[in-house]
Amino acid sequence: MTVQIPSEADRLEALRSLAVRPVPEPEYDAVCRTACALFNAPIAWVSLVEADSQWFKARCGLDLDGTTRGASFCTHTIRSDEILVIEDASQDPRFVSSPLVRGDAGVRFYAGAPLVLGPGLRLGALCIVDRMPRRFSERERAQLQDLAQVVMAQLQAGRAAREARESAASFRLLAESTSDMITRCDLQGTRLYVSPASETLLGYRPEELIGTKPRDLIHPDDAEAYGRLLGQVRSGAISRAVTQHRYRHKDGSWVWVEVSFGLARADEGEQPAGYIAAVRDVSRRKEAEDRMAHMARHDPLTDLPNRLLFREELDRALARLDRDGTGFALLCLDLDHFKSVNDTLGHQAGDRLLRVVAGRIRGVLRRGDVAARLGGDEFVIIQAGCAGPEDAMGLAARVVEAMAAPVDLGGYPTGIGISIGIALAPCDARAPEDLLARADVALYRAKAAGRNTWRLAEGEAMPDAAPLRTEAPGRRRAAAAVPAMRAETASRVRIGGEVRAALAAHEIVPFYQPKVCCRTGQVSGFEALARWQHPTRGVLTPGYFGAAFEDQDLATAIGDTLLRQVAADMRAWNAGGLAFGRVAVNVSSAEFRKPDLAGSILEVLAAYGVPTTHFELEVTETVFLGQGAENVPAVLNRLHDSGVLVTLDDFGTGFASLTHLKQFPVDHIKVDQSFVRNMEQDGDDAAIVAAVVGLGRSLGMRVTAEGVERPGQVERLRALGCDYAQGYQFAKPMAASRVPYFLRSWVLSAPDPIRFRSV
Ligand code: C2E
Ligand code: CA
Ligand code: CA
Repeated sequence: MTVQIPSEADRLEALRSLAVRPVPEPEYDAVCRTACALFNAPIAWVSLVEADSQWFKARCGLDLDGTTRGASFCTHTIRSDEILVIEDASQDPRFVSSPLVRGDAGVRFYAGAPLVLGPGLRLGALCIVDRMPRRFSERERAQLQDLAQVVMAQLQAGRAAREARESAASFRLLAESTSDMITRCDLQGTRLYVSPASETLLGYRPEELIGTKPRDLIHPDDAEAYGRLLGQVRSGAISRAVTQHRYRHKDGSWVWVEVSFGLARADEGEQPAGYIAAVRDVSRRKEAEDRMAHMARHDPLTDLPNRLLFREELDRALARLDRDGTGFALLCLDLDHFKSVNDTLGHQAGDRLLRVVAGRIRGVLRRGDVAARLGGDEFVIIQAGCAGPEDAMGLAARVVEAMAAPVDLGGYPTGIGISIGIALAPCDARAPEDLLARADVALYRAKAAGRNTWRLAEGEAMPDAAPLRTEAPGRRRAAAAVPAMRAETASRVRIGGEVRAALAAHEIVPFYQPKVCCRTGQVSGFEALARWQHPTRGVLTPGYFGAAFEDQDLATAIGDTLLRQVAADMRAWNAGGLAFGRVAVNVSSAEFRKPDLAGSILEVLAAYGVPTTHFELEVTETVFLGQGAENVPAVLNRLHDSGVLVTLDDFGTGFASLTHLKQFPVDHIKVDQSFVRNMEQDGDDAAIVAAVVGLGRSLGMRVTAEGVERPGQVERLRALGCDYAQGYQFAKPMAASRVPYFLRSWVLSAPDPIRFRSV
């Protein structure tokens, strides 16, 4: 290793970095006085050598602030780490003509010890001077050198103190200019400093919180988790922690905050001195998250639990049954003639009727019972702790009775008829599907027996499965014997057949809808959406044939066909030099059941020479839930590792679960159009969009808003920091042949990329 000898520039830089103040400081003067006394000399000084001059930081017995370098002894002293002794300057040709020697100072004897900051970095000297020639013993030399070290230590301590003052000042400035509450605690957690934001955040002035501990204000339910985290930070297991908990506001309310904290050390490698924490108000985000979680599990019309929550409740009831043998009853409810209310009095009347029914069902439940609306006019009740058929029939009777009073539907008093099918667990069945099927068949028999009645399941033979059953979570109409079900199944079978024929006739094609960057207005890519170019009925959307995506064989066949067409389109666009960005393809849960989905996608891309970095996959949260979910992580990881972007579609409508996002390699999230639709009018929706954007940012994911139809939405989204937008505002899904034209006209007609308009 070669050692660099510091240059004069390095030396001057080192001197500058000490920023020695050019004013007298008593401790330096004291050193000079000590030197005079110790060596019995009339004069002593501390000299700092600049580029062209030397100046005296301290002096004793001399009335001079400094000299030029040419006149100075110290210029010579700083050439080595050794002490420089001139016994008689009048005999030394180097100094004989120096004004210090010839002038009033009358210097004859000089001894200077260099001030050494580091190897080769000599900043000046501590010197003693006499007006007569002298000898200087070895012992005296050593003493002078010791004193020089004291001066050096003073210079360095001055710098450290100044840096500490400066960093304390900038810490304070930072802490006091952010809306987060910044606190510093000692190792016991006692607050030593609290920034003024405490007043807006918690209603306390900083001085009221100093001396308190975070634990004093934390919600009791959150204290344990916080304590655990604190322990991990303290032990060094993690360097920083971020956690959310509730703090008590001075007014007694609870505020949700996000606290990010870590150990504070004066210097790297030193023992920690305490903690620094930043505390941020996240109550609005939390509210939006809670609302999202609620919405994901409740029916918006009646606010009863929806299919998803019902399924979870049913699983819970079954778990209880397994654990301690507590039985329960499942009641399936169906309104009589609901369809005719909808058809004759309109949807609003139908909605009102459903709300009234929901309210009346709620009114007859006991603690622990759960009612849910599964869709349309289908309701279910889980009767907890049901001791036997009498209990369940008692509840059914109360429901029928509650429906007796007519409902006023805008001037039309309407009677409500209700039929109820009952299955008991464990005596009728133990598996959720079987229980539902039994209750369903009992319901069918109740309906057949006339309105306002109920039937118990009676050990009927289980009906055959429908040929094109879906595996959607929740209740499946099990009985092919139920006429409505039969009709639905028939139509599914028909569509299934038609779609197969359409595939064979190459009538299923991708349409492309652009995604636009909110910041620059540039097209970042396209989403491929399935369309059926029907020979007589025009272009059909999945609204007509989407059920086919739920059947594994059909979904795979459609997926394959579309993927190949998309890859072929991308190859053609690439060949034409078209910058189209990324193309996203939707994959349904059913397709994940297929073995080696990742491999087959990568194979197709490779066969068409399409780089994976131009490809994106859109999946909804249902893929993490349905059958085949166990394949999902491996498939997504493999694709993600190969460069394919993974986007979570329809975010906010499913589990809305943050754990999913963390578990899977998700790069993008797409906030569902139902939140974007009313975000200008509905504060809650806007808050949800804002929360998703914030969430995306904190997890390092990009966020796309879909269903953007108006310029106002674009403005709001941009203000919220949403990354991409997609919707009719920019373009409807278009045939592949139109994409090149669209891209060219988009670039040409967008001189100001921020100004969006539809094309
Ligand atoms: P998605 O993935 O959420 O697709 C977005 C849907 O919103 C598309 O409906 C699109 O045409 C529509 N849309 C786009 N912008 C707007 C707008 O500004 N306003 C409104 N009201 N709607 C807009 P589309 O094409 O009917 O597709 C419906 C659903 O069918 C898709 O929802 C997706 O879940 C599924 N789907 C479509 N193509 C495929 C496919 O190739 N494979 C699979 N597995 N599913 C597909
Ligand atoms: Ca999609
Ligand atoms: Ca979507």
